Amino acid sequence: MPRPIHAVVHTQALRNNLRVVQRSAPDARIWAVVKANAYGHGIERVFEGLRGADGFALLDLDEAQRLRTLGWRGPILLLEGAFDLRDLEWCSRLDLWHTVHCEAQIDMLAAHKTNVPQRVFLKMNSGMNRLGFVPSQYRAAWTRLNALPQVDEISLMTHFSDADGPRGIAHQSAVFEAATADLPGERCTNNSAAVLRHAIHADGAAGAVGPASDWVRAGIALYGSSPDHPAHSAADWGLQPAMTLCARIIATQTLELGDTVGYGSAFVADRPMRIGIVACGYADGYPRICPTGTPVLVDCMPSRTLGRVSMDMLAVDLTPVPLSGDGSEVTLWGAAANAAVLPIDDVAAAAQTLGYELMCALAQRVPVQVEN
Ligand SMILES: *Cc1c(COP(=O)(O)O)cnc(C)c1O
Repeated sequence: MPRPIHAVVHTQALRNNLRVVQRSAPDARIWAVVKANAYGHGIERVFEGLRGADGFALLDLDEAQRLRTLGWRGPILLLEGAFDLRDLEWCSRLDLWHTVHCEAQIDMLAAHKTNVPQRVFLKMNSGMNRLGFVPSQYRAAWTRLNALPQVDEISLMTHFSDADGPRGIAHQSAVFEAATADLPGERCTNNSAAVLRHAIHADGAAGAVGPASDWVRAGIALYGSSPDHPAHSAADWGLQPAMTLCARIIATQTLELGDTVGYGSAFVADRPMRIGIVACGYADGYPRICPTGTPVLVDCMPSRTLGRVSMDMLAVDLTPVPLSGDGSEVTLWGAAANAAVLPIDDVAAAAQTLGYELMCALAQRVPVQVEN
């Protein structure tokens, strides 16, 4: 029997989450962001659930090729663009659109031999200070690109640093709009947080603070994690978990007052209690930093972890679930059997990180099932 741990990718949840994004950006086309192997879910596994998107955005040529192999003929966007000249040959071969964020990428395009001009997304650094041309150099970059026979349509793109927080997007939006006001081309600005928190309502009602985004780039929301947790939970946004990680209890122990659990004796029993040992550890992608008290579901009932997470195992408190024991199912995050949900964001909070990091870190050794 294989070690009793597996993950599940929920196709219906992906579809639901895509609808949530579509409803919040009804006039925009949606890039489903599937970088990092679809945020750890697997490109092949999420494809069915996300094929209703207008395009797929990612970083690696390998992942673009896999999408073409799956039969996707629609748009694919490389979010960091080409890293060298040969990448542009692949863009031609696989019909990929690509980001242009620096002069070197324009030089590459000028040197690229092709009869079919390429669609590019010209990126502005409107304040994030990661990728893109600063506003004062943006127009010159656009003019240079526009003069190249290798370039077809130019879309205008930027990325927000604070769409999920109190600083918001108004400042960067104003910078972007001012510097692009008279440039033609489709706009592409919003990530998940900007889509959900700064939706432009058809009636221009409150919340209309973002620029018109002809294309939005939705990642985390599609996978059912809240982009602005803890301000809003995934359920607040109507999002459902796209990934469940579950394992079984493979041993139980009965503790006396003063007994300790695991490495470093980090948990000390303050009363007699039963604990379960779960076949999940940090080598499966469960964060080692999660302290005693991190939420879990045991047979769909809320409980908590105890002591340190080890490489292949962790301990859970069986006090709230006296009927559970060997073989009981433990949900580490996601959806349990009876529709109980342990949001990945709650586990991430205990690990002082985000749902993004947990789902991306699901280990190779964990088998994954796709559920319709
Ligand atoms: C990853 C990424 C996104 C998606 O962000 P989410 O917060 O997951 O929605 C959007 N745009 C760019 C440029 C990205 O790199």
